Amino acid sequence: MEIRYCLECEELLRGRSDQKFCSDVCRTAYHNRMHADKNKTIRHVNSILRKNRNILEQLNPGGKTKISREKLASRGFVFSYFTNTYTTKTGKVYFYCYDQGYLLLEGDWYILVRKQEYIDG
Ligand SMILES: [Zn+2]
Repeated sequence: MEIRYCLECEELLRGRSDQKFCSDVCRTAYHNRMHADKNKTIRHVNSILRKNRNILEQLNPGGKTKISREKLASRGFVFSYFTNTYTTKTGKVYFYCYDQGYLLLEGDWYILVRKQEYIDG
């Protein structure tokens, strides 16, 4: 028979083969901890997205501007995080962080834009 331990306190389990916790206290503690970790991950991603959005807004007060990748990166912009994309009929892909977006041009330049009406949500 397989030896199993409580997922929370690692106490040896002697119950049914599907038993995962030694007690309800450990079950509750374990699930609370997992939930807290999940929320922490979500908060972390949200904070990156919000920061990205604020950087774009600060660099683009007029609603449309051209800017170097270096300038974005120097502010701490994280290029792998965005909320959605928009592909135009000609195949250009705009990346958005909420209402602030950008389009990659040639030579590591970007056009920053504000959300257009044709984009959903
Ligand atoms: Zn336990």
